[in-house]
Amino acid sequence: MKIVRYERKGKKRWGVLDEEGEHVREGVGDFLGDWGLTKKVYRIDGVRLIAPIEPSKIVALGLNYRDHAEELGMPLPDDPMIFMKPSTSIAGPGDDIIYPHMSSQVDYEAEMAIVIGKKAKNTAPEDARKYVLGYTCLNDVTARDLQRKDIQFTRGKGFDTFCPIGPCIVTDIVPDDLAVEAYLNGEQKQSSRTSNLIFGVDELVTFISHIMTLLPGDIISTGTPGGIGPMQVGDTIEIRVEGIGGLVNSVVAEN
Ligand code: MG
Repeated sequence: MKIVRYERKGKKRWGVLDEEGEHVREGVGDFLGDWGLTKKVYRIDGVRLIAPIEPSKIVALGLNYRDHAEELGMPLPDDPMIFMKPSTSIAGPGDDIIYPHMSSQVDYEAEMAIVIGKKAKNTAPEDARKYVLGYTCLNDVTARDLQRKDIQFTRGKGFDTFCPIGPCIVTDIVPDDLAVEAYLNGEQKQSSRTSNLIFGVDELVTFISHIMTLLPGDIISTGTPGGIGPMQVGDTIEIRVEGIGGLVNSVVAEN
């Protein structure tokens, strides 16, 4: 099932995309709890897609691609290296990424993100997927100069609009060997597969749930492969994850 959220006539709704991705059937209730589907169907180009979830927190991974670590000549980490992005950094498909005045290097990072479906605390790896609703594309936008300068990641990763997600949450996909790609103005810049993840979905849900309670709707972003690079005002960036779709955003100047 492909879950989308959208705005229609000024109201936020959710629904399920059809196989062709051309129509959305409107849902009722809460897709994280009790839900159903109505008979209302809209053409996808007749609604405005918004971020498919409003998480309470986004937990993201530092170096987590084997090919990227080898490319950088870095040893594989013993534990997942995690940091957080604020919920206010979320942007939806088609939303602008705002290039902040404070930065002079804003990078894209193509990632597959896990969306938590059930409250998870101290899970076991073999149970981890019971707590997952599905998967989406995420662009871990980073003010690289500020990340380097601060050491701490909060400023460099935390600006408003620095966490585009979408276009949908796919609930019935096996996440262990999917292509993850970034296209800047149509040119491929990143290309890897989730089979190169150092810490996979089961390990990440388990590790993080032993630190903090994961709430329904929370996001774990699994890290980015090699090929990250800067974006300029006017650029269009697309993050694609196989079986999920393309998340397209444009970069605009602040103010
Ligand atoms: Mg990242």
